[in-house]
Amino acid sequence: MPYSAPVVSRLAPTPSGYLHLGNAVNFLLTWLIVRRVYGVLHLRIDDLDRARLRPAYVENIFRTIEWLGIDYDHGPSGPEDFERNFSQLHHLAEYEDFLEALRQQSGLLYACCCSRTQVLAHSAGGVYSGSCQPQNLDFEAPETAWRAHVGASTVVNFTDLWLGPVAIELARDLGDFVVRKKDGLPAYQIGSVVDDVRLGVTLIVRGLDLLPSTAAQRWLAAQTPETAGFLQTRLVHHILLPAPDGGKLSKSQQQPLDRGIMAEAASPRPVFEAVASVLQLPSEAGRSLAALRSAFENAAIM
Ligand SMILES: [Zn+2]
Repeated sequence: MPYSAPVVSRLAPTPSGYLHLGNAVNFLLTWLIVRRVYGVLHLRIDDLDRARLRPAYVENIFRTIEWLGIDYDHGPSGPEDFERNFSQLHHLAEYEDFLEALRQQSGLLYACCCSRTQVLAHSAGGVYSGSCQPQNLDFEAPETAWRAHVGASTVVNFTDLWLGPVAIELARDLGDFVVRKKDGLPAYQIGSVVDDVRLGVTLIVRGLDLLPSTAAQRWLAAQTPETAGFLQTRLVHHILLPAPDGGKLSKSQQQPLDRGIMAEAASPRPVFEAVASVLQLPSEAGRSLAALRSAFENAAIM
């Protein structure tokens, strides 16, 4: 992976549950890649989903990082520091500016007053049909979400460092996605783009399940000059967990565990083993963090 500028990446958990094995694999992979190229790693907690946030989940993020034996260079030192200095609630004005810039572009956003039930009724294959789009509803009406109108033929192309060329049909895979929620808070895609731009992130390492989000974020970022730099960000999408036969796990096998990986596993070794497998390193590499790091640094990967 040749780099001309320092790599800046981030661990970007959401405190909406205890971190599961897939999250831990992502943390460790990101850390290995960043440390190998002497890059800079941020911890950036996405806490805009206020309804699902629990203090115990925030605490669990810090404890899991420590348990794995990894570190980061910038970000909150603990839950208190996070609330006081790093919560996304401190950056609402920046997200609002981005939303406003998007809204000023004719036809890009529209208001949607559908209830959860109506959204389901107006969805095919989990993708909202856009039934509110022609109605030009008032953006400021109460209980109204803002959606991005994705043209039917919108294809987002990028090159992933592992997957190679990727083409995502945004309308088919995500549809008209929410950019501002009914509670008035920016949606995940907005916070993620703005934060990555502010932190100067140059490399995003995330699970394959986030491919449609990556496409949505690149499409959004391309709409304003302030966020266009996001398109330069390099991308690595990885399988979340290796399956016993070396294939991909089914969706149900990737569900977060109720108690989280720290409570499920006696030691972080299953995480090391999973990462060794995802990286197709010899299984001995999974016996410790030091073994994993050394095997990865000597491997001809990336
Ligand atoms: Zn609607």
